Amino acid sequence: MLVDCGLSCRELKRRAASVDVDVSCLDGIVITHSHDDHIAGIKTFHKCFPDVPIFANIMTSETIAWHERIDEDAFVHFENGQQFEIGPFEVMPFSIPHDTSDPVGYVIRAEGVVYFHGTDIGTPLDSVGVHLAEADVATLESNHDPVMLRQSGRPPSLIQRIAGPRGHLSNDQSCELVRRFASPRLKRIALAHLSEECNAPHIAERAMRETLSSIGREDVSLAVLGQNSPFEIS
Ligand SMILES: [Zn+2]
Ligand SMILES: [Zn+2]
Repeated sequence: MLVDCGLSCRELKRRAASVDVDVSCLDGIVITHSHDDHIAGIKTFHKCFPDVPIFANIMTSETIAWHERIDEDAFVHFENGQQFEIGPFEVMPFSIPHDTSDPVGYVIRAEGVVYFHGTDIGTPLDSVGVHLAEADVATLESNHDPVMLRQSGRPPSLIQRIAGPRGHLSNDQSCELVRRFASPRLKRIALAHLSEECNAPHIAERAMRETLSSIGREDVSLAVLGQNSPFEIS
């Protein structure tokens, strides 16, 4: 299965093939929300692979169907908080605070492993953290360094949006979630959705390593994901 479809279909196929995945064999795509960086490739993907179902809640699917001119019938609807299955995966969508219609993160279970997927989170809410607490492996947003964001030269309204309660997690906010909710079962964290202008991998990594050290969890392995190449999270 695939979470989101922000790459072009050609790039998705290329990257998937480089890690021995054939995207035509996907059991389904789950969508977190309707922002372009998460759905830009969905229309072409659906044209190329109409038999791969797209899972989304109603608000998200209606938004995508309208913007991308995709038939509503392409979507399989779920309700936030209601578990469903895709092939061998048990998928639990949970609400997150972000500035679009009904965005979600996911907890995905397979073969006894619990995976947390949380990006585009405006506030490190307890209602997000309780799902992180279930995880063995987590992909977690660590979007920006607040000082770099303020000094980025971006319009004040955009800075306010990103740093706001329905924007994105700063490095410190991501660390706060881990500090408060990492359970003994957590073994691996992949930091994701880093801003290329307002963050740097070594800054995000250092903040999280300090956090893991402060809670006596240096044993948790840590990766920082880039935007331009695939990475194996096992
Ligand atoms: Zn977003
Ligand atoms: Zn995003």
